[in-house]
Amino acid sequence: MKTRRRPYAEQRPQELGGGVCSVPVPIPGNPLGYTLVYAVESPAGPVLVDAGWNHPDAWQALSGGLAALGLDVSAVRGVVVTHFHPDHAGLAGRVKEASGAWIAMHEHDAALVRLMAEYAAEAHDDFQADMLRRAGADPAEAGQAMGARPDPPAPPDRELRDGDLVDLPGRKLRAVHTPGHTPGHICLHLEDADRLFTGDHVLPGITPHIGIYPYDRDDVDPLGDFLESLDRVSGLGPLDALPAHEWIFPDVAARAAEIRHHHEEKLERLRALLSRRPRPLTIWEVAAMMTWNRPWEELSPMLRGMAAGEAAAHLRALEARGQVRRLAAVDPVRFHALDS
Ligand SMILES: [Zn+2]
Ligand SMILES: [Zn+2]
Repeated sequence: MKTRRRPYAEQRPQELGGGVCSVPVPIPGNPLGYTLVYAVESPAGPVLVDAGWNHPDAWQALSGGLAALGLDVSAVRGVVVTHFHPDHAGLAGRVKEASGAWIAMHEHDAALVRLMAEYAAEAHDDFQADMLRRAGADPAEAGQAMGARPDPPAPPDRELRDGDLVDLPGRKLRAVHTPGHTPGHICLHLEDADRLFTGDHVLPGITPHIGIYPYDRDDVDPLGDFLESLDRVSGLGPLDALPAHEWIFPDVAARAAEIRHHHEEKLERLRALLSRRPRPLTIWEVAAMMTWNRPWEELSPMLRGMAAGEAAAHLRALEARGQVRRLAAVDPVRFHALDS
């Protein structure tokens, strides 16, 4: 696939045929550039898949882009968000204000949104510093702020479960639960047009962030969930993929298989790395040894924090497969390879 990501300035609202349009909505200050918001038309008004980042420029782009396609934002019937992240759910509340639209998301992400709203009221600096310390970060690093958090998104009016049809008269848009990137991530299968809105689950050129927070949790396995979710999507067949970032691409099953392969290789490299070490490693040590798109020394505190989250998710997946064991009685927690 030779298509390359083009900057936001080169993106245009597009009529995609079959009653589906896309509107690029900028994410100010983010290298991803933009979110692709989709409108699925119906006799009862369009439903949006995702909404974009909550920012005045983004709102301009969304409302103006819909207008350029002959759609009025005040006629929007509903917003179904693929997951709670701010580049997807951020503007949903604003669309609701303008149109009276309902907001729908998977029940697991809805629970997280409620938690975020409770949490936003409290200070969390100690929580973050403690999480970093328990992962083995230097005390100096554990004291650094990892960046401001955006406001929590508007709470959903409707909660979806796997297999539910979205309220879109005359069309068939079905939620496919694809946990991993978030616990309640969904893809949306437009069954009347053989298309899959993939959110951040399957993107054509990059792979989504899969992390564990706090890093030392052992009651979840987001990477294991993500790999299963890739298989689920592959099982739907070679559908056209309409992702939330980058560009539209054919054959979601082929790309899902490629991403699965990427993570299997990464897991194997990590297992080999641990088995060569004479002593167990902290999550932070593992993160510093893994390969990222820039050298570890050049990563900002926020990116190091995300890298540690990814390292934790890979360690946890290896642990769930019985290839790695954690020493939980020590502080910070350490991991070592089991002989296979
Ligand atoms: Zn996301
Ligand atoms: Zn995203």
